[in-house]
Amino acid sequence: MLSEGTWREISRCISCGACNEGCSLFHASERKESLGPRSRINIVRAINTKVAQLSINSIEHLYLCGSCTVCNKYCPLNIDIAGLMIRIREELIRAGYVPPYNIARMRRNIEVNDHPWDSWDKGKWIQVRRSARPKKHLFFAGCWTTRSQDMANSAYMVAKKVVKDDLGLLESAEPCCGYPLKIAGHVDAYKEVLMRARSKIEGFEDIVTPCISCKESFKESGLSSHYLLEMVPEDLEAIKRRSGKAALIGSCRDSFTDKARNILEIAGYDVVDLPDWCCMDCGFSLAYTISQDLMKSVASKIMETASDLGADMLVIVDPFSYYLFSSIEGGKIEIRDIYSILLDSFRL
Ligand code: SF4
Ligand code: SF4
Repeated sequence: MLSEGTWREISRCISCGACNEGCSLFHASERKESLGPRSRINIVRAINTKVAQLSINSIEHLYLCGSCTVCNKYCPLNIDIAGLMIRIREELIRAGYVPPYNIARMRRNIEVNDHPWDSWDKGKWIQVRRSARPKKHLFFAGCWTTRSQDMANSAYMVAKKVVKDDLGLLESAEPCCGYPLKIAGHVDAYKEVLMRARSKIEGFEDIVTPCISCKESFKESGLSSHYLLEMVPEDLEAIKRRSGKAALIGSCRDSFTDKARNILEIAGYDVVDLPDWCCMDCGFSLAYTISQDLMKSVASKIMETASDLGADMLVIVDPFSYYLFSSIEGGKIEIRDIYSILLDSFRL
């Protein structure tokens, strides 16, 4: 079932369980072994050696991994657990296994509706007045950003200031870059959707996006694309000093998390360090597609942890994470996106 290379990696695992310590699903479930990475590896091992059969539950379990890579840092054998999970999904699909129903539905939606959901108007977030002249730069919101009107608007305002030019917008016609298909293991479908998206945005010289997955997908397709946070200048000067304790849910790239942290510190916030398992980014949107309740429980646990550590605000970088945390009712902590902090505290 698995390729030789993938099986070789799986076989290196000594089942020590150290990786569980990095996993948000493991911690949010009060350290339930069956939600940690070691059990995902053990499931694949058992199936490949024919000790067990692949069931709907075990396939779902493989799709719950959010590819955040935190567990990789804990593995004494340097196994790329996050990368392995994506490869395994890919190889299972090639071997003819069917992904969980909700993932198949997401694929259909991306291919038919150009976003991962059954219905949604992606232009709904736009509150801004636009000029009619042709633009060099395209502000590409990304599917999940469009679900959070406030984050989409603050990111757009920051992009305008950073680019120092008008930005083109595709509104409801913005395509999906296809990235969720890539991490779901649907490599061929991903390439097709990406090429289709590319053809829909031709004519712009540069793409600016608050979604790192969109940025990387378009870069892979040969377009010039930029991650918005990366474009924010380093030498910021606060126009208004803030106070308070802010916990940060950063990006899947350490350098961008460091940048967001720097922004908060220059703005005057005390940054509260969260345990590294308190991580959430767009890779978890697959897990959210399978179980919204599970992912809401993870977000609630992270909010509770931040609050217990004295934070009065949770600042979020990733658009999917912002959507998820904002949807938690009755949370005791304020949720902010990094772009609204930039607009409040700096002259860009
Ligand atoms: S990559 Fe992240 S979500 Fe996946 S097993 Fe590792 S820590 Fe858990
Ligand atoms: S930390 Fe590495 S060796 Fe230990 S169980 Fe996890 S993947 Fe296997």
